[in-house]
Amino acid sequence: MNCNEAERMIPLFLEDELDTDELKAFKTHIENCEDCKEELSIQFLVTVGLDRLESGGDFDLQRELASRMDNANHRLQFGENMQWLLYVLEGLVGLALLILIVMFLIL
Ligand SMILES: [Zn+2]
Repeated sequence: MNCNEAERMIPLFLEDELDTDELKAFKTHIENCEDCKEELSIQFLVTVGLDRLESGGDFDLQRELASRMDNANHRLQFGENMQWLLYVLEGLVGLALLILIVMFLIL
């Protein structure tokens, strides 16, 4: 992913509208690119921060953004666990089929 793509994804990230693959690529880029990290902070401040200021609540940009990234990590973790579960299930189905075929051949 390049910086243009990452910047296009920032609003989607803030709206929670990236799918797992996009989120993963986006996060990897943000973690390795100071420019985009800064751009994310700015857009986060503008979209979320202004909302928060209007409603008069306390607002800690760094903390909120960190927890946003944390949530993304949890989602990715969950997605990876699900993927793993799917592989296991596929493996089991494959194994069951194999057993059926072997039984069929023996009988
Ligand atoms: Zn970048």
